[in-house]
Amino acid sequence: MSTTDLTTPDLLIDGAAVGTDDRLDVLNPATGAVVGTSPVCTRGQLDDAFAAAERAAPPWRGSLDERRAALGAAAAALAGAVDEIAPLLVAEQGKPMREARLEVKAAAYWLGYYAGTDLARETLRDDAKAFVEVRRRPAGVVAAITPWNFPLLLACWKIGPALAAGCTMVLKPSPYTPLSTLRMGEVLDGVLPDGVLNVVAGRDELGAWMTGHPAVRKITFTGSVATGKRVMSAAADDLKRVTLELGGNDAAILLDDVDPGAIAKQLFWSAFLNAGQLCCAVKRVYVPSGLRGELVDALTAEAERVVVGDGAVRETTMGPLNNRPQLDHVRAVVDEAVRAGARSTNAGAALPDGGHFFAPTILDGADDAMRVVADEQFGPALPVIAYDDVEDALARANAGTFGLSGSVWGQDEDRAADLAERLECGTAWVNTHYANDPGQPFGGLKWSGVGVENGRWGVETFTDLQVVHRARG
Ligand code: NAD
Repeated sequence: MSTTDLTTPDLLIDGAAVGTDDRLDVLNPATGAVVGTSPVCTRGQLDDAFAAAERAAPPWRGSLDERRAALGAAAAALAGAVDEIAPLLVAEQGKPMREARLEVKAAAYWLGYYAGTDLARETLRDDAKAFVEVRRRPAGVVAAITPWNFPLLLACWKIGPALAAGCTMVLKPSPYTPLSTLRMGEVLDGVLPDGVLNVVAGRDELGAWMTGHPAVRKITFTGSVATGKRVMSAAADDLKRVTLELGGNDAAILLDDVDPGAIAKQLFWSAFLNAGQLCCAVKRVYVPSGLRGELVDALTAEAERVVVGDGAVRETTMGPLNNRPQLDHVRAVVDEAVRAGARSTNAGAALPDGGHFFAPTILDGADDAMRVVADEQFGPALPVIAYDDVEDALARANAGTFGLSGSVWGQDEDRAADLAERLECGTAWVNTHYANDPGQPFGGLKWSGVGVENGRWGVETFTDLQVVHRARG
């Protein structure tokens, strides 16, 4: 097992810490201070990482029992490292400590779930003429690429099922949040055989080198739609398999039997968790015209209770945006909406100096033409859009190119569920939002993704089907 300094980690290749000549500053989004530096992987080092993954593959794919045991041990090791990894996650990502600790624990829980993976063969035919089975073969070496909003959890959505399926992996975190992932790699390396999980880091170009690398048979990518399309193009040349988890613009539709005051807190945090930087957060709310005022008041009251600040400070309930381009984007779409007639509530809230802070903002009187409604804001601003006809609200929720998830809220659960099923998205929630579980497949329709992660369906994406047909008689 390699061990390096937490704030100046090395690459993890074949179980060893590998230093680099070039390093990148990693900034604390709450203070602008340098948290540490990231190694910058060269092409040669990337080749080494994929060679290690290839060497580790034959023994790793040989025994499901050993893989299960190793994943169970990996889950325990990660859960045991919460105290050291959570502060690193807070420092480079910005989220409050409580959420960072939950993320590390959830990541460990996800790994533990896949320690129970079953990859049973299925018998399709067993008669005098033939015995035909279908089995799942590991897809091969995996390139895994993650974004900066939930670096550890989203990495474990990939590591757990891929390793359970018998694949080996080279994982690359975002250049904004590499430190916690590199440390997680070291912790897991202590219980996984050398080369099964390699962690590299660097600039965005490293991601492109990975998706074009000849050793890779499967790419699993989480990030923006624009990058996802580049990844899919890069995969085409070699017909590599891809799973893409991309952006979302989730609608929440409130029905006319909803009590706005009763759901405001849950709805608010469904939009503002992690300062709204969550792919499957509520990104727009459709509310019956008659309930609009009451809902806006109740959401604004929640916004006023938020303590925006450095995630390392105990009282903080919402951290900064992770990076300057994201802050600029959120400011731009909110300013545009206000210029186009939306009323921004809570706009005057006090914010700490420095850092990429933005006050949690409710946009009353928003409409579908505004960029903050039509696109993904990925930040702490929630447009509220009034409707008079629920069929019209559904059509507006389904408009556009996104289709990640959505929700319907109402006291008549069956009526809400009927409408939820008509949302064009991968997950349709009723009276809740972003409720995920390792056993539940998660993926987007339309431009929100290709394929799914999690559950047995997620494991299967790291395999190829093989039919074994024995002739008889
Ligand atoms: P991004 O697309 O900019 O970057 C994601 C990752 O791709 C980073 O590691 C980056 O270095 C890498 N990358 C950049 N260029 C690349 C290239 N040409 N080839 C390969 N890799 C490349 O996304 P982001 O800004 O880090 O993350 C925010 C986006 O992620 C949002 O759109 C959000 O909705 C989405 N997201 C989706 C899910 C989901 O499960 N659907 C989850 C979280 C975030």
